[in-house]
Amino acid sequence: MQDPEVPLYPHYRYVCIVNTTSTSCFIHTFGCQMNQADTEIVTSILQDAGYARTSREESASIILLNSCAVRENAVDRIGNFLQQLKGRKRRQKGLVIGVIGCVPQFEREAFFSAYPFVDFVAGPDTYRALPSMIGSAFGGQRIASLEYDHREIYSGIEPVREGRISTFLPVMRGCNNHCAFCVVPVTRGRERSVPLRSVVDEVSKLATSGFREVTLLGQNVNSYRDSSGSADFAALLDAVSLAAPQLRIRFTTSHPKDISEDLVRVIAERPNLCNHIHLPVQSGSTRMLELMKRGHTRDEYLRRIGMILRHIPDAAITTDLIAGFCTETEADHRDTLSLMKEVRFDASFMFYYSVRPGTWADRNLEDDVPEAVKKARLQEIIELQNVISQERYRGEVGNVVEVLAETESKRSSLQLMGRTGTNRAVVFDRGRFNPGDLVSVKITDATSATLSGTPVDAE
Ligand code: SF4
Repeated sequence: MQDPEVPLYPHYRYVCIVNTTSTSCFIHTFGCQMNQADTEIVTSILQDAGYARTSREESASIILLNSCAVRENAVDRIGNFLQQLKGRKRRQKGLVIGVIGCVPQFEREAFFSAYPFVDFVAGPDTYRALPSMIGSAFGGQRIASLEYDHREIYSGIEPVREGRISTFLPVMRGCNNHCAFCVVPVTRGRERSVPLRSVVDEVSKLATSGFREVTLLGQNVNSYRDSSGSADFAALLDAVSLAAPQLRIRFTTSHPKDISEDLVRVIAERPNLCNHIHLPVQSGSTRMLELMKRGHTRDEYLRRIGMILRHIPDAAITTDLIAGFCTETEADHRDTLSLMKEVRFDASFMFYYSVRPGTWADRNLEDDVPEAVKKARLQEIIELQNVISQERYRGEVGNVVEVLAETESKRSSLQLMGRTGTNRAVVFDRGRFNPGDLVSVKITDATSATLSGTPVDAE
């Protein structure tokens, strides 16, 4: 039921209330790359309205939490963060606190009622209205903007990009898949794609402005379809790789049922398309995949992997895995372990199942796998993945790989950290190189997550 105290802010009414250069905003960003890209869009919208962005939270008069709802602990993190801000709000008269992104979109008015000191909440489709919402909040009004807009792609807004070397570029938003455990279709709405022409123009602009790498983003990026309906994701990758041959191009996240041979062929043919594909499988058991509504079987997944490796023998494939989904048996779990041994993923994001309220699984299935069993199975998956990653990474020792230097290493300013085309992290002696350089590095050592080496020209 709609809370009468909280008027629903009409979508798209973009009223610039008051903007003073002194009103600065600090944004905490939680969750996925799409949230990071959204923070860059939100920063642009606020700066255009005259709000300054500050990197010092203590000097901010507006604090935004760009939230993630993908798992229970992500939502708890926002709650804990807000409890800390509650005290600050009491001490700092006039401080405006806003929560944007997936948590308010998912929990809606219940979330807003639970945190009466939060001035406004805004869902991922309503960021154009943020300046007027902030203005109203300074006027003492509490606002919730949680409408969906299945056309919104934030066209015409130039993101204020964090980095100078590597950046994200959303090419589509939303997801139509409705996997049984997932909140994304609820938090991000239906799929919509950015026109191919706009993506190509943006990628060309990034290349000429000095970026070395771009990651094309989408919740289910390979169901991209240009508004003309003619161009799919393979056509988009083809176009951007030709438009900016000097730019390294990555993309995430793919869905196994939508990955086409055309797409893989384009990656194989273009040197600037990275040989890394993140292909979440979630489980190795066909029975589990059906229950998860993933839309493919174990064998179909393995056939896709075979197809990828036929075209790109040195492709690095990573995945997402869930342990302990509803009714999972020991045999289902064994299927996941055997699939991992068969595919030998370079790395995986591994979690145990946590119920997300309102999802199909929540409404129709019992969360019947005991937490201790979930944790034990997750531990087994993590241990196996570490062994496989270690073997794969160690296989690189002695090889020369091309690395895009991104930053100074956390360990020493005499070393740089970067990534290979296959998305492996490499730490190497700096020599004469700087962040942004493409460096040929001879690998001398490896752990299960990081390679280390020396620039070839230093030998
Ligand atoms: S494809 Fe991914 S984002 Fe979409 S519903 Fe499934 S798990 Fe969620």
